[in-house]
Amino acid sequence: MSLSEFSLIDDYIAISRTTRDDVSLGIGDDCAVVEVPPGKSLAVSMDTLVVGRHFIEGVNRVSLGHKALAVNLSDLAAMGAEPAWATLSLTIPEADTRWVQDFMQGFLALADRFGVQLVGGDTTRGPLSITVQIHGFVDPGQIMRRSSAHPGDLIYVTGSLGDAGLALRLQQAGSLDSAHHQQLLQRLDCPTPRITEGMQLASIATAAIDLSDGLIGDLGHIVQQSNCGATIELQRLPCSTAVKAAIAQSNEWSLPLSSGDDYELCFTIPADKQQQLQQLAATLDCPLTRIGVIEQQPGIRCVNAEGAVIDVESGYDHFT
Ligand code: ADP
Ligand code: MG
Repeated sequence: MSLSEFSLIDDYIAISRTTRDDVSLGIGDDCAVVEVPPGKSLAVSMDTLVVGRHFIEGVNRVSLGHKALAVNLSDLAAMGAEPAWATLSLTIPEADTRWVQDFMQGFLALADRFGVQLVGGDTTRGPLSITVQIHGFVDPGQIMRRSSAHPGDLIYVTGSLGDAGLALRLQQAGSLDSAHHQQLLQRLDCPTPRITEGMQLASIATAAIDLSDGLIGDLGHIVQQSNCGATIELQRLPCSTAVKAAIAQSNEWSLPLSSGDDYELCFTIPADKQQQLQQLAATLDCPLTRIGVIEQQPGIRCVNAEGAVIDVESGYDHFT
């Protein structure tokens, strides 16, 4: 779409407050030109949000802008990377300035918070779809891969599990009260990417992943790629009061185990790094909770407070 037909870019998109020294050329030319610091590697990731699939038509547009960037930042967090630049591909049905203004408000507020500069993108007309590419720096010696967990490593998660899933469940049932469930809705619509935590953990953790599809599925990627298995202790799972109440009522654990969209980090550390992790945890705003252990035996087992193995409906074929 040509700029003359669609002059949103200058007024509503190229208004990032964050201007980085490592951006030689930002929005406005055919390409952006950026500099990676010496000794660092570039971490790159991309996520797409499509209307009807990842969000509903009438979703809050400021939240949507936030979430489009947040899910990408979460991928950087899982690698222990420091965020730097983003590009944004916007496909929108019509040149709706109000829509773009609201969307960019959410997007750029989060970008500013993490020092990310929007350096380019594309804007076209079509069915609503948003793609963000994120770029960050990693220390090549401290990349938290999915494939490097070892039997005996302890499994941890940041924050709490199941809030986004509970918000979605209530929303779908038509019983989400936006005043009463404000905090839950915030977890679904405006997730906080665990960037600080990921960067700090990179020197200790053996493996990490961000929880977009649910703990069992995402931890499943770690154990599969690391050729091992895991046991999770259900009573250790960090859950909010609301999620705990839902578990008690339904007598099943699907919210913390298999609901998605929490964007917490799940990571593993060698058992002898536990004390170092506790020291680190004391400096973070976000709790780190030990939930289980990596084992040689493939698959993921969930045990209750009595140590009995619970049959957990994971929703993933390769674990059932
Ligand atoms: P081109 O025809 O070279 O693709 P465009 O007219 O699409 O140029 O874009 C002009 C400038 O605006 C480019 O620098 C491009 O990166 C930037 N841009 C376009 N759309 C977006 C967007 N949604 N977000 C950020 N930058 C954008
Ligand atoms: Mg273009």
